[in-house]
Amino acid sequence: SAAEPLLFVAALESGYGKIRVLHGIDLTVAPGEVVALLGPNGAGKTTMLRALSGLLPVNAGQVRFGGRDMTNATPREAARAGLVHVIEGHRVFTQISVTDNLLLAGYDLPRGERAARVEEALSFFPEIAEKRHERGGALSGGQQQMLTVAQGLVRRPRLLMLDEPSAGLSPVLVDRVLNVVARLRSQGIAVLLVEQLLEKALAAADRVYALVQGHIVLEAPTSEANLPQRLERAYFGHD
Ligand code: ATP
Repeated sequence: SAAEPLLFVAALESGYGKIRVLHGIDLTVAPGEVVALLGPNGAGKTTMLRALSGLLPVNAGQVRFGGRDMTNATPREAARAGLVHVIEGHRVFTQISVTDNLLLAGYDLPRGERAARVEEALSFFPEIAEKRHERGGALSGGQQQMLTVAQGLVRRPRLLMLDEPSAGLSPVLVDRVLNVVARLRSQGIAVLLVEQLLEKALAAADRVYALVQGHIVLEAPTSEANLPQRLERAYFGHD
């Protein structure tokens, strides 16, 4: 229905074998909304993205995406539905061209559409578009990270999940990646962002969740006053 969020997660539990990491997560993302998932190291943020994209089992609870049940969908089913997980440092093939890296990311798209999708993804990253004929390995580390994001965009996601896109980037490149997030929002693409840089995350997001030891301890719009202080208290268990 029109009122249903794009992503709806209720009472989700997940983890690694017998190790339960997430203990009943409730979380939503509206169409075109940018949501940051924050929390201390080891809280379970990466685990959450993995459970949503089918890389880890959902042991209990429910995931709905675009009005459909997506609990325990495979990564391929999730990606086809428009739920795309960009995994940092992943899948840039160094020996083939930038363009071929992007074509590969869209390997299962209709043949006639793939080239246009590659152009669309490159339009977000002019400095990578300039190097489209160079090998993936000729890009700098930061450029490879942007190429990873572009690989996700080839799939024209409805929700793009980014896990610490700022990791290892210079401040200028961090801002550039977060500008892409703003552009995605303006195009109606939702983003679920895991980010360690609190100030940057708060500037990029509409709303935040704080995850501590596998529990959501705080949910708030970024317009809320004193949010950094509230988050800090939540991290240390005093909120
Ligand atoms: P960080 O910012 O440090 O990446 P995070 O919030 O993303 O933290 P996760 O990576 O989701 O946290 O880790 C949550 C918990 O799951 C941690 O206790 C971690 O040790 C554990 N964990 C992560 N990966 C595995 C794994 N492959 N096998 C077993 N336990 C794991």
